[in-house]
Amino acid sequence: MRQQLGLPGERQRHAEVLADLIDVLARSGRALVTWQAWRTAEPNAGSPWLERLTVFHRLAYGDDLVRRAGPVPVAPAGPPAPTPAAPRLAGAPKRLSASAWQAMVDCPYRFFARHGLGLGEAEEVAEGMEKADYGERVHEILRRFHADHPVLSASPREVLLADLEATTEAAFRGRERDDYLALAWRQRWLGHLPAYLDWALAREASGRRWRESETRFEKEWPLPGGGAVTLYGRLDRIDDGPAGPELLDYKTQNRSVLRSRLKVAGEDVQLPFYGLLAGAAEAGLVALDDDRVELVALPRPLAEASAEEGARLAATLAALAAGAPLPAHGAPETCRRCEMRGLCRRP
Ligand code: SF4
Repeated sequence: MRQQLGLPGERQRHAEVLADLIDVLARSGRALVTWQAWRTAEPNAGSPWLERLTVFHRLAYGDDLVRRAGPVPVAPAGPPAPTPAAPRLAGAPKRLSASAWQAMVDCPYRFFARHGLGLGEAEEVAEGMEKADYGERVHEILRRFHADHPVLSASPREVLLADLEATTEAAFRGRERDDYLALAWRQRWLGHLPAYLDWALAREASGRRWRESETRFEKEWPLPGGGAVTLYGRLDRIDDGPAGPELLDYKTQNRSVLRSRLKVAGEDVQLPFYGLLAGAAEAGLVALDDDRVELVALPRPLAEASAEEGARLAATLAALAAGAPLPAHGAPETCRRCEMRGLCRRP
């Protein structure tokens, strides 16, 4: 957006700082640059520009410009930090959403910290519009659009596109008054509208028809040994397809990200969980944030995936009710983005 408006961007800012550095060095008879080479026991890299200068100096003059101030610090030896014992819940949860179940599958300790201790990520005041906010608006735009046009082929394409644009303008208008970033998000979504319309029309021509959007579901799921858990969630969209209802979840992500999410059975639980809630013939994720809009379907029959997920969920909750521990065992990718890292003391 900054480039389109002709405003200076990151590349220009870097070029200016580099020009300033060259200017300062060229005007000085002698220059001394210092930096903190170590943070605790971790090396702290200097600027790549200075790195380039020292490499050049070494190659040209056989002399290292760098003068180290002292020996490399050694991490103080001591007993390893104690790892907290895996906690237990006082009974299985009574209600469970798809995201809570995903947290449990990703790492039981993280689920405990979020839902047992109530330590959800601190709500930060977002001054600028963020991607989650953008996603919510896109969901609302599509809900309104399809409710107004339950049969797309009943209207000419230009009318549909104009209506989508008008719904988009209306959805972003209030936010744009006090947040210039909202303008950039609106432009981004407007760019995807023709691709979305192509996809939606082709889908309808293939015999699928929009039925409803943003529908809330709740379902009692029995647990072995008695009792039940209430599963709940809101489904983005349900279509009627040739083999029965089809569940769609809109994602403001590209299709390669979504394909990798669904590649390994059992890792992404959202669609099988929704299958438990609503019972459907098929399910998939709609990649909205790409050059073309595409459905990334669950690569296995939904009924089979949901049955397995239901059995796993019931067995896990029954074990929790019996006092099973919730160990910290997130995959490295999960741990990297986990807000509970300091709590579980995962190295
Ligand atoms: S950092 Fe990793 S192991 Fe620790 S709670 Fe988070 S996901 Fe689990």
